[in-house]
Amino acid sequence: MTESYLLAIIYLIGSITFIMGLKMLSHPETARKGNLIAAGGMTIAIFGTIFLDSSIGNYLWIFGGLVIGTIIGTLAAKKVKMTAMPQMVSLFNGMGGACAAIISIVEYQRHHFLMSGGAGHVAIIMAGLIIGAVSFSGSMIAFGKLNGNIGDKAFPGQKFINALIILGAFALGAMLSLAHESNVMMLYVVLAIALFYGVMFVLPIGGADMPVVISLLNSFTGVAAAFAGFVYNNQVMLTGGILVGSAGTILTILMCKAMNRSLFNVIAGSFGGGATGGTTSEKGTVKEISVNDAAVLLAYSKKVFIVPGYGLAVAQAQHVCHELEKLLEEKGVEVKYAIHPVAGRMPGHMNVLLAEADVPYEKLLEMEDANGEMPNTDVSIIIGANDVVNPAARHDQASPIYGMPILDVDKSANVIVMKRSMAAGYAGIDNELFYYPNNRMLFGDAKSSLQKLVTEVKAL
Ligand code: NDP
Repeated sequence: MTESYLLAIIYLIGSITFIMGLKMLSHPETARKGNLIAAGGMTIAIFGTIFLDSSIGNYLWIFGGLVIGTIIGTLAAKKVKMTAMPQMVSLFNGMGGACAAIISIVEYQRHHFLMSGGAGHVAIIMAGLIIGAVSFSGSMIAFGKLNGNIGDKAFPGQKFINALIILGAFALGAMLSLAHESNVMMLYVVLAIALFYGVMFVLPIGGADMPVVISLLNSFTGVAAAFAGFVYNNQVMLTGGILVGSAGTILTILMCKAMNRSLFNVIAGSFGGGATGGTTSEKGTVKEISVNDAAVLLAYSKKVFIVPGYGLAVAQAQHVCHELEKLLEEKGVEVKYAIHPVAGRMPGHMNVLLAEADVPYEKLLEMEDANGEMPNTDVSIIIGANDVVNPAARHDQASPIYGMPILDVDKSANVIVMKRSMAAGYAGIDNELFYYPNNRMLFGDAKSSLQKLVTEVKAL
C-alpha cells in the first residue's frame, strides 16, 4: 500500500517536471536545463515503476532493453550532425509510435485472458494500435525523405483512397472492440492496414513540408502514448502523452502559420518535391562582389542585418559569423540577426546554432520585427539562406512558396548573398533576389568566405 502511494507521488513529481521542462524549453537560455529536468523526472518515473509496481517482473529483459537503448540513444545523439537532427527526431518519434502499437498488441492478448474491462477498454487499445502504427510507418517514410532516400510519390485519387484505408482500419478496430471473442488474426490485419496508411499518408507530401509532418506525427505519438496510459491506468504516461500530443499540435499549427499555409494544404500539396515553379523569364543579371568590397561595405555601414540559413549550419560557420558581428560592432556598426521561423531544417535551428556560438539572444530578431527595420538597413548579409529570402513568395502566384512570409531583405539598401553557387534551396526553385539591382553575390563556402571577410575587416 505504501508503495502505491509512493508511486503516485513519484508520478506527480514526474508530471510536474514534464510541465516545467516544456516551459523552460520555450527559451534558448533555459532549454538545456528544462530538457535535463524533464529527463530527470522521466528517469524517476521509470525506476519508480520498475521497483514499486508489484506487478512488474522480468527484470533481465527490462534492464537489458534499458542498457541497449541507452547505448544506442547516447551514441546516436552524440554522432548526429546538427543538420541531420530532423531525421533523428523522426526516427525517435517513430520508435515512440512503435512502442504504443506494441503495447496495444500485448495488452489486447492479455485482455483476452484476463477478461477484464469491456468494449471501451479494447477501443482504447485499438486507438493506441492504429495511431501508434501510423506514427511509426509515417515517421520512417519521413526519415527516408529527409535523408534523400525516398522521393514524393502521388497518384490521382490518393487522398480518397487514403481516407478509405484509415476508415477501414478504424471500422475493423471498432468491430474488434464490440466482438465478444478475441481475434488476434484480425488485430494483425488492423496493424497492417494502419502501417500501410502511415506510408500512404506521408509518401505524397512534399520534402520541404517534412518538418510539419514530423511535428504532426509527433502529436500522434503523444496521443497513442496517452491511450497506453489509459490502458495501464498509469498517470505519468497519460500526462506525458497528452503533453507531447498538445505540444506537437501547437508546433504544427505554428509552423503552418509561419509558412502561411493551412494544414490541409501541407498534407495535400507537394511543396519542395522537386518543383521548379516560379517565373524566371525576366531574370536580369547577377552581380558579384569581392571579399574586399564586401568588407568595406559592411565596415562603413551604420546598420547591418545578418540572415542565417541552412548553408550556415552546413558550413558550421556560426562561430566565425559571431566573430564578424563582434568586429563590426567594434567599428560602430549596429549588427542584428534576422531569424526566419523555418530557416534551416528544423524549428529553432538558427537559434540553437547561434546560441552555440554565444551570440547574445537579444540580437536575434523575429521575422516581423526584423522586417519592420529592413528599409532602414544599409546591408543585409545572407549567409546560406535562400528560400526564406525569396521575394517571389510575396508576388509570384505561380511559385510553390507563394504566400510564405519571408524576410524582406530586398528592402534594405544593399544585399550580399553568401553561398557556393546559383543552386536552388530546399524548395527547389530559382531565387529572383539574386538578380535584383541592389543584390551582389559572394560565392564560396560560408565558413571560408566569412573567415576571409573577418581578415579583411580587421585590416581596415
Ligand atoms: P535553403 O535550403 O532554401 O537554402 C540553403 C542554401 O544554402 C542553398 O541554396 C545552398 O546554396 C546554400 N549552402 C549550402 N551549403 C553551403 C555552404 N557550405 N556554404 C554556403 N552556402 C551553402 O535554406 P533556408 O534556410 O533559406 O530555407 C529553409 C528551407 O527549408 C525552406 O524551404 C523551409 O521550408 C525548408 N525546411 C525548413 C525546416 C524548418 O523547420 N526550419 C525543415 C525542413 C525544411 P549552394 O548550394 O549554392 O551553396
